[in-house]
Amino acid sequence: NQFKDYGISEPIVKALEGLGYQQPTEVQQQVIPAALEKHDLTVKSQTGSGKTAAFGIPLCELVDWDENKPQALVLTPTRELADQVKEDITHIGRFKRIKAAAIYGKHPFAYQKEELKQKCHIVVGTPGRVLDHIEKGTLKLEKIEYLVLDEADEMLNMGFIEQVESIIKQLPKERTTMLFSATFPGHLEKLQRDFMRSPRYIGI
Ligand code: AMP
Repeated sequence: NQFKDYGISEPIVKALEGLGYQQPTEVQQQVIPAALEKHDLTVKSQTGSGKTAAFGIPLCELVDWDENKPQALVLTPTRELADQVKEDITHIGRFKRIKAAAIYGKHPFAYQKEELKQKCHIVVGTPGRVLDHIEKGTLKLEKIEYLVLDEADEMLNMGFIEQVESIIKQLPKERTTMLFSATFPGHLEKLQRDFMRSPRYIGI
């Protein structure tokens, strides 16, 4: 099992080599091929399993470099995770020159606004600040084709569920949604029923 078996393009394969990722982890083996086929996915996953690259690799592969508006949105429960995900995606997409932006509270809105004005393929952020940018018109959603809910149970625990739902309702319906979570409390089941299309379940 190797990354290049998934039909991943040369710039991404080269970046993975540079990162020292020789073989896909278990979660990557399951998620990458399904995500490349644009299946909605529900993934039971822990930190340390390689889950970030499991969605980061297909996102970097699938986004169209020529499009200036964001094509993927990743929601995370914390600023730290948003930064981490942005950094991982930037490394994976380095040779494709993928641009990712991290947007979260306690960081100057104006700076993020400028970042979002430039070409940006993938936006990573916490729900409250993402909603702010949507409401102020600084984050455009019309080209979003991919949504990732990372550590969805944590977003629920932190009381972000209404904001998450409000964001999802404003996204294009024609999209691929991937939900990553360590646990599956009832409200996540509802989220899946309401906003995902017959998600494939991946539990490692
Ligand atoms: P994560 O579960 O996304 O927090 O990733 C845990 C750690 O595993 C991170 O430091 C990644 O850089 C690393 N990692 C992810 N995928 C691979 C891989 N295929 N081979 C080696 N290390 C990896």
